[in-house]
Amino acid sequence: MQFQYYMPVRLVCGRDCVRERADLFSGFGKKALIVTGKSSAKNGALADTEAALSANGQKWLVYDSIPPNPTVASVREGGRLARGFGAEFVVAIGGGSPMDAAKAIAMLAKQEAEDIFSYSATGDVLPMLHIPTTAGTGSEVTPYAILTNDEKETKTSISNPAYFPKIAFLDGKYMRGLPQSTTVYTAVDAMSHAMEGMLSVRAGALTDALARESLRILHGELPALAKGEYTDGDRDALLYAATLAGMVIANTGTCAVHSMGYSLTYFHGAPHGRANGLLLPEFFAVCEEKSPARAKEILHAAGFASHKEFAEALAPLLGKREAIADDRLRAYARKASVNKNIKNCSVFFGEEDLYRVLKRSVGG
Ligand code: NAP
Ligand code: ZN
Repeated sequence: MQFQYYMPVRLVCGRDCVRERADLFSGFGKKALIVTGKSSAKNGALADTEAALSANGQKWLVYDSIPPNPTVASVREGGRLARGFGAEFVVAIGGGSPMDAAKAIAMLAKQEAEDIFSYSATGDVLPMLHIPTTAGTGSEVTPYAILTNDEKETKTSISNPAYFPKIAFLDGKYMRGLPQSTTVYTAVDAMSHAMEGMLSVRAGALTDALARESLRILHGELPALAKGEYTDGDRDALLYAATLAGMVIANTGTCAVHSMGYSLTYFHGAPHGRANGLLLPEFFAVCEEKSPARAKEILHAAGFASHKEFAEALAPLLGKREAIADDRLRAYARKASVNKNIKNCSVFFGEEDLYRVLKRSVGG
């Protein structure tokens, strides 16, 4: 057996863990920049963080203007605020958007990075503590920050081992008021991470074990996702499964589904997890043709006998599909075919394969 695994984030999981482990905030300095969106003021996560910082006598500045699919302008503004305030560390609260933005901000607080997408960052980055309030991206345990790239009309991942947060606090209570659509899309994103991670050329025994456990839990949550009714146990389970799937992609990366999905988000506004969910079953249909044994193994791990059964389970969760014109789909296939994720996939997806998946999934 041969593999490598690296994930240096300390995980603190449990009800009220932010307040109860306020001591863990204390080692990072006197001043924190809190990077978040608007919902953390309502779901209790911002109040818990402020209580923890206050208990340690630390000061903070709240930057709560991170939009979904964070822009370069929003992270530049965050970097400017961090410098002006003299922040010594960053606390990220929110879904993948604020958590990713915080990583870029923690870097921009220390480095100029004129063109953020071509810049090779050094490890000189402010330390970060992450508090997820969606259960999907796993950004709290990955070294990736995914930003909107207007020049290339897509979303681009910047990555650096220094973007791993120091600590992730996992408390499903922050998701009690998460809207049904966001709950579903983020759960599907986690599923996509676990499944694509298993298909990656970098998959190994440990990432497979993490992915299988994530998929087992997610399958058990399908009835709650279909009903739209969640106990605290469901919320905790979804968050744990999403973090496990994040631990998978931290080491394997994602594959062709994510590369195609970026166009559905950039050009059609499909939320990230929805974009992946629309494409996943047809992606696995092609995998079943090209690499039947591994495709079956992954589908079985997710609790499905075939891509058809998988498609039937996801369809009602995703509702009415986008219907996109053929010339657009051809362009998205071309764009996805040059994305670095394609080389990361153990099943080869050429431009024509990508077009087939797009056409069957969201063809108009
Ligand atoms: P998101 O864009 O962070 O949040 C979606 C919406 O949900 C926002 O309107 C947000 O509002 C709201 N929200 C968040 N938490 C809430 C809560 N507890 N209650 C009520 N509303 C809440 O969505 P996401 O799916 O978590 O993240 C998607 C982003 O992550 C994409 O940019 C994607 O590319 C990236 N991503 C990153 C990785 C990685 O490894 N780094 C992996 C996968 C995806 P506010 O923001 O205003 O609070
Ligand atoms: Zn994703």
